[in-house]
Amino acid sequence: MTPPALVWFRQDLRLADNPALAAAAAGGRPVLALFVLDDEAPGRWRLGGAARWWLHHSLDALGRAIAARGGRLVLRRGAAAAVLDELVATSGATAVFWNRRYEPWAVAQDRAIKAALAARGVAVRSFKASLVREPWEVAAAEGLRVFSPFHRRWLELGPPDPPLPVPDPLRLVGDVPSESLASWDLPPTQPDWAAGLRETWRPGEAGAWERAERFLAVAAGRYGSARHRPDRDGVSRLSPHLRFGEISARALVHRAGLHSSFARQLAWREFAAQLLFYQPDLPEHELQPALRGFPWRDDAAGLRAWQRGRTGWPMVDAGMRELRRTGWMHNRARMITASLLTKHLLLDWRAGQDWFWDNLVDADLASNAMSWQWVAGTGTDTRGFARIFNPVKQGAEQDPQGAYVRRWMPELAGVPDAWLHRPHEAPPELLDAAARGYPRPIVDLAAGRARALTVYAAHVGGIGAEE
Ligand SMILES: Cc1cc2nc3c(=O)[nH]c(=O)nc-3n(C[C@H](O)[C@H](O)[C@H](O)COP(=O)(O)OP(=O)(O)OC[C@H]3O[C@@H](n4cnc5c(N)ncnc54)[C@H](O)[C@@H]3O)c2cc1C
Repeated sequence: MTPPALVWFRQDLRLADNPALAAAAAGGRPVLALFVLDDEAPGRWRLGGAARWWLHHSLDALGRAIAARGGRLVLRRGAAAAVLDELVATSGATAVFWNRRYEPWAVAQDRAIKAALAARGVAVRSFKASLVREPWEVAAAEGLRVFSPFHRRWLELGPPDPPLPVPDPLRLVGDVPSESLASWDLPPTQPDWAAGLRETWRPGEAGAWERAERFLAVAAGRYGSARHRPDRDGVSRLSPHLRFGEISARALVHRAGLHSSFARQLAWREFAAQLLFYQPDLPEHELQPALRGFPWRDDAAGLRAWQRGRTGWPMVDAGMRELRRTGWMHNRARMITASLLTKHLLLDWRAGQDWFWDNLVDADLASNAMSWQWVAGTGTDTRGFARIFNPVKQGAEQDPQGAYVRRWMPELAGVPDAWLHRPHEAPPELLDAAARGYPRPIVDLAAGRARALTVYAAHVGGIGAEE
């Protein structure tokens, strides 16, 4: 009997355009499909709650797709190194294939596993699948810290190769014992907070393509202008599908065009991966050395009001409630909510990063850390601290009729447009009982802004004086 080739699925939960799967299946070799739930290796970055919900359904979808082709997705929980070791021994696999990841913990894990398997005489091959360009293809040595030169280089590398079809023939091993997905308890039970996630999403490769086709057919044409508006259906909402690799960035670039504004956003995702690859402490420390040790405030009540969508600023609260309900938030709202937390409230960006990590279905170590540092002004843009989003102004510009706020804040549905983004200033007779129950702002925008800039000047000035 031909020994099987083992394919270790990770963030590539798809059959199409999956280079590791395609290489393993080449020549008609039987493929043993494996997924390992390894909660130890990522350390403090083990999957958060919303992502665990997604993973459950995505694995369910992949498992069904593999079963429909006569195979089985083998599920094992534990340290990936030990699981691979055991499965190679019991199955007689002589080769292991996987697609690369770029988080520091994953890079270290891959290196160790590759060496251990090679020492046993097992052939190991890894592939590019998550990104159109790997970090070292665009930038060597210390990497690029500014997006424009990164994007220029990313474009110069030219159109990517066309995506790969589902391997055909695909012979799959079906008789290896697997743990049951249900036994992993990935979705929440008590309490079950996932109703909004179930209503909103269809995890898995088929759901990803359904969403992509709809976006490419309808919204992609107006994406450049509509993508800033949370009140419109102007963005793809493909981020969780991309995060779990149910659809490849390469296939999307191939369809949308390398020079499209949509592909440019996909390049931001790759910029983030590159930044984390070369700056492994991106999620932990301010990129700008001068801002390390910044005196972020300690304010548990403020943090909690922000998390619950009860800051008294409707654009912020709408975003935070969208997040709690659906596990996703529009990019503009992510910027507005993150800015209120880190500037007006002057709370540590890592607290926001943690909350997003646990609540986003698309929680991605690189994009989350880069974006939080960008909004906090601690990242690559040295003038970033002065960029402070005013939620009232943002509301007037990006949600002028209030459709976004009214959708997520039913208690404000009856507030007239003119007051919707600052209901506490409305004449009381214009507010119904529901709107009167909405909290007054927990922070004054002008005072919060002034405090942030004063603390910043004192901190940076202090460091400057010492140098
Ligand atoms: C504070 C903050 C935290 C964030 N955390 C995450 C995160 O954990 N995971 C995540 O995928 N994105 C994160 N983003 C980036 C961005 O908000 C989301 O990628 C985007 O909103 C996803 O929606 P979409 O799929 O409709 O995007 P679209 O506008 O349709 O863009 C297509 C794809 O491009 C990528 N992309 C778009 N914008 C960005 C960006 N600014 N940075 C990186 N990639 C981008 C995403 O993969 C996205 O799916 C964060 C942004 C902020 C401001």
